[in-house]
Amino acid sequence: MKVLFAVSECVPFIKSGGLADVAGSLPKELKKLGTDVRVILPKYGLIPEEFRSEMKKVKEYNVQLGWRSQYCGIETLEYDGVTFYFVDNEYYFKRDSLYGHYDDGERFAFFNRAVLEFIAEIEFYPDVIHCHDWHTGMIPFLLRTEYYKRPGYGLIRSVFTIHNLQFQGVFPPVVLGDLLQVDSQYFNEEQLEFFGNTNFMKAALIAADHITTVSPTYKDEIQTDFYGEKLDGILRKRHEDLSGILNGIDHDLYDPEKYAGLAANFGVSTLERRVENKLQVQREFGLPENEDIPVVAMITRLTKQKGLDLVRGVFHEIMATGLQLVVLGTGDPEFEQFFRDMSAQYPEQCGVYIGFDENLAHQVYAGSDLFLMPSKFEPCGLSQMIAMRYGSIPVVRETGGLNDTVQPYNEFNGEGNGFSFANFNAHDMLFTIQRALSFYHKRENWLKLAKNAMETDYSWAQSAKQYNELYTDLISRSESHVF
Ligand code: ADP
Repeated sequence: MKVLFAVSECVPFIKSGGLADVAGSLPKELKKLGTDVRVILPKYGLIPEEFRSEMKKVKEYNVQLGWRSQYCGIETLEYDGVTFYFVDNEYYFKRDSLYGHYDDGERFAFFNRAVLEFIAEIEFYPDVIHCHDWHTGMIPFLLRTEYYKRPGYGLIRSVFTIHNLQFQGVFPPVVLGDLLQVDSQYFNEEQLEFFGNTNFMKAALIAADHITTVSPTYKDEIQTDFYGEKLDGILRKRHEDLSGILNGIDHDLYDPEKYAGLAANFGVSTLERRVENKLQVQREFGLPENEDIPVVAMITRLTKQKGLDLVRGVFHEIMATGLQLVVLGTGDPEFEQFFRDMSAQYPEQCGVYIGFDENLAHQVYAGSDLFLMPSKFEPCGLSQMIAMRYGSIPVVRETGGLNDTVQPYNEFNGEGNGFSFANFNAHDMLFTIQRALSFYHKRENWLKLAKNAMETDYSWAQSAKQYNELYTDLISRSESHVF
């Protein structure tokens, strides 16, 4: 079975969030099951030189975008047994950030066409093209309306995975007509039109043979008005072709026993060594080194999605519990400033690092006692799984993947691996933090919790099998999805 992953970011080359973790770890697991998976992504200027210098050019062709004929180079490298292809066009991808440019519609229209052309250019005709998030949303649509007529394309099935429904790739209609040359008959409310604009995510939702999202709970949530981001109607319509497959984490990469950047490596049977990591985190964040004070961590994009309004709403009450809070994140300036202000106001209790730092993230997972993630919505969330693997106990809101991965602690039978609350309410969160802290000094409870968390299996094995079964099922169907 041959599968092509089309995705806009992928660990270890380039990452802005969990999408890159998934694209970097799932293919390896599918390979173990015997599937020939290859991955294609843009060759961003931000990809580190150590990888760029390893890439070999295998093809050059031009991609037609309306009247423009744009250069497209394909470069390749092998990493961890997986073949990666990079779409090279410096004008589009040599920028100082991945997204947020005035011409994102054109950049990703180019990428989508480049991927579809790549199939014939390289002569790698996959059984399934697996597209991820809006950046690849036009691929299933163009495949079904245009490319299927070409030799070799007719049998290709498409899977589209929603990693985050909030980001949809909404652009003026000109992107559809002038650039992608899509027939205007499709520009209607039932198909590609979205409140006068066009929407790459919507294109995928109507055209893909199958849609997945990254947790069972989120699959149900996105079919409701509250979580549906104005696409819940389509998702309800396609509920038979929609499934929720929980993400995993890369157990080789996130391994407290092996990761080289920690003050001390540790495992379930050597939990006492964790304290060295804790003291290091306190030191690095400029907080008093004291192993008795509980350290609560947040490693996150600083956006409203992550429930930062709740944290802001009861910040002084949180500080009154006496805990230390360490925050590693970047994002909305208002939240960056808020945390800077709070670390100035509470220098002994609140440590903040505004930035993106992979190594520091590992250290914080390994050195914190609690991991706070009160998200408003959370498609899957990887951070809480990484935290658990490192023995940091999650405190989460029961939404999306958080609901599917964190089982609330039950002090009577010792079951559970974290703490959770249901309503998006600051005082419910505060109460849950206080409840978690009440067990912190009961060493027996706490060790049991840490053990439960660390022993929960969040590897990819199970989910990779589900994806493989899905591909097999799609290939066996005689017809593609018709819309
Ligand atoms: P999302 O994809 O919504 O950002 P996830 O929890 O799925 O959230 O994944 C976030 C990933 O990004 C995790 O691997 C987390 O450790 C990492 N991460 C987030 N912010 C930072 C940061 N400032 N520095 C280092 N890693 C970060």
